[in-house]
Amino acid sequence: PARMAGQVCIVTGAASGIGRAIARMLAAHGATVVVSDVTTAVIEGGAPTADVIAAEGGHAVFVSTDVARTEQVDALVTQTVARFGRLDVLVNNACIRHARPLLELDEADWQRVLDVNLSGVYRCCRAAVRQMVAQPLVDEVRGRIVNLSSQHGIIAAPGDLAYGTSKAAIAYLTRQVAADYAAQQIVCNAVAPGKIQTGAGGRAVDPVVMERAERRTPWPRLGRPDDVARAVLFLASSDARFVTGAELMVDGGWMAA
Ligand code: NAD
Repeated sequence: PARMAGQVCIVTGAASGIGRAIARMLAAHGATVVVSDVTTAVIEGGAPTADVIAAEGGHAVFVSTDVARTEQVDALVTQTVARFGRLDVLVNNACIRHARPLLELDEADWQRVLDVNLSGVYRCCRAAVRQMVAQPLVDEVRGRIVNLSSQHGIIAAPGDLAYGTSKAAIAYLTRQVAADYAAQQIVCNAVAPGKIQTGAGGRAVDPVVMERAERRTPWPRLGRPDDVARAVLFLASSDARFVTGAELMVDGGWMAA
């Protein structure tokens, strides 16, 4: 049987980039995917994610959600459960970026980045765990959470104060949720991508920056959204049953070298 058959998964920020690749990967392995985003517009172009998944023979629905709005996040989970009966996997992928050093970052922008990137993860985790603790065990697990952190929550990138801080905090939140809910058999892990050719790290980025990143990465190419999606698939599957509180680097060896 398909690796994710019968699994109900929510992916936030799944209209574009890495989230879109994750949603497609989970669906390709048999999951029912709730594609969630503030928009259906695909930054890199093409049909909306749920339509692409349907065309690929997978099962997906789109639910419009702003992760900065508590009532929308709560509705995302209650609608998912009302429709599909349970929630097996939450992937917290939605993010915004506003790269400014301290003296150029005004307080409203600082607050906004933390509200979407970090508090968004808090809201989604809270709504999901509320459901997961109440649902029966399947293959020893009540539910799985995968959070997208970043190598830029570990090492500084030019001007990435608010974004990097949010990503560092997501790594901590991941360990805390893992520790607090292990007894209820809910697993929570993070994937920390390196330089991936899309969105936050790639699109509209200076070719000089990309070239430097390519030289800095031990692996002979930059990362692709699909590379991250494979790691998320592992952590979303029963293969990762006893893995919890981990942060998995998907960076072509950047942090190791
Ligand atoms: P992206 O900008 O391509 O996609 C982000 C998605 O989040 C978009 O579809 C956007 O509409 C959605 N979004 C934004 N605000 C939202 C909100 N308030 N509510 C719901 N959805 C919202 O980004 P990406 O490059 O695909 O990054 C995806 C994840 O991977 C992020 O968590 C990012 O931090 C992480 N990451 C990316 C890289 C990289 O190199 N691309 C590196 C490290 C980590």
